[in-house]
Amino acid sequence: MNNISELTLTGASALLKKGAISSRELTQAALERIAALDGSLHAFLHIAADSALEQADAADRQRKASPTDAQPLLGIPLAVKDVLTVSGMPCTCGSKILEGYMPPYTATVVNRLQAAGMVIIGKTNTDEFAMGSSTENSAYGVTHNPWDVTRVPGGSSGGSASAVAARLIPAALGTDTGGSVRQPASFCGVTGLKPTYGRVSRYGLIAYGSSLDSCGVLAHSAQDAAEVYSVMAGPDTLDASSQKIPLKPVSLQAGQDLHGVRIGVPGEYFIAGIQPEVEARVREAIQVLQDLGAEIKQVSLPHTEYAVPVYYLIAPAEASANLARYDGIRFGPRVDGDNLWDVFFRTRGQKFGDEVTRRIMLGTYALSAGYYDAYYGQAQKVRTLIKRDFEQVFRDVDAIACPVAPTTAFPIGAHGDDPLAMYLEDIFTLPANLAGVPGLAFPTGFDGQGLPVGMQLMGRHFDEAGLFKIAHAYQQVTDWHKQSPRLAL
Ligand code: GLN
Repeated sequence: MNNISELTLTGASALLKKGAISSRELTQAALERIAALDGSLHAFLHIAADSALEQADAADRQRKASPTDAQPLLGIPLAVKDVLTVSGMPCTCGSKILEGYMPPYTATVVNRLQAAGMVIIGKTNTDEFAMGSSTENSAYGVTHNPWDVTRVPGGSSGGSASAVAARLIPAALGTDTGGSVRQPASFCGVTGLKPTYGRVSRYGLIAYGSSLDSCGVLAHSAQDAAEVYSVMAGPDTLDASSQKIPLKPVSLQAGQDLHGVRIGVPGEYFIAGIQPEVEARVREAIQVLQDLGAEIKQVSLPHTEYAVPVYYLIAPAEASANLARYDGIRFGPRVDGDNLWDVFFRTRGQKFGDEVTRRIMLGTYALSAGYYDAYYGQAQKVRTLIKRDFEQVFRDVDAIACPVAPTTAFPIGAHGDDPLAMYLEDIFTLPANLAGVPGLAFPTGFDGQGLPVGMQLMGRHFDEAGLFKIAHAYQQVTDWHKQSPRLAL
């Protein structure tokens, strides 16, 4: 069969069920496509061909043994962002400080998906410790955007987004602390979910900002993402912040309309400086939602403008504490020194990249005695105001629709010497993390240069199902999510 690796998750699942293809064929095809294309994309940091084929064979055996069971993920290949642990595979977090580190355990999300029969193909590139919005901060080289290889794929889950967009893999895991699933999904024209904080286990996700981190998924449609989400989500005793609230089933039907759904459009997300084509595509998409029966309302999230400064105090503060464990003694390589302090100093000084070093310094400063109240304490108070904005708005509407990012994918190197310009790219994604609400990004068209534009839906805590329903209804009547970049094979 031709183009077997270009199948979507639900497409592949249907053919596996019919017996038209095997998981081995599907996995082999993904490996071949990665071999042909990843030289120019650099989406992967590690490929586990042998173990993937073994898992594929096991999936084929399982299907033969129980052919009538509904097993939507059985035998489907999956890529995992390299900040999530998979036992037997290296985990670098895109950093030299974890070069060669082999974690002795597997993240809960990966465990659950493997138990459902997914085949783990390998680990995808990321900004170092997930700090960045372009994947340029990886110590192992930049990932390219398959729509235009001179541009970034977004970040920090840029490897996962690029791999899904280029159809190297039907689905991939990402993580989102301030936009790292949604913004790369938007830049690469795929669908990406950041779940509610506490909905999906963080066990095995190497911590960046523990009060903001979440594991998400990138795939070709809301339906495909929902299949993966439904298995990875739910309570986990290994993560103290995981909530014991039962999972709401996601039920997506063909031809579903949006009558009775109220969608808010926040004025603060359509500001001067946003690329006009981004605003145009998002407004067109909102019109489609209205045509499907949704009631559109203007709403206000007045503290949005504080999201960037608040996030860039809280996230580095948490990072400075979380990254203190990389001391050259317990994990990864060591640079020897004259005494213990010297070992710490040299290892950390030489192995952390510039952006991570900047964040550790900023975070340590914000937490230090004398500055704590003025910076970290103040940021926490404003975080509460941002959270309240959402609580207020969700009294009147069921979801919020807005852009994912102010621009489409920017050229590699565009923000090279201007970290602040890079931070400002995150303005529309940070609020969901600060408030802990879920966010879903999906493609709504292209700009004049043929680059994908994404829309973001945000919802009430634990209402992922509501967001999937809206995006699925949109994807039933549009085909932006079916477009693929043209890649020379
Ligand atoms: N771009 C943001 C940062 O650099 C968000 C990253 C993320 O979500 N992991 O921190």
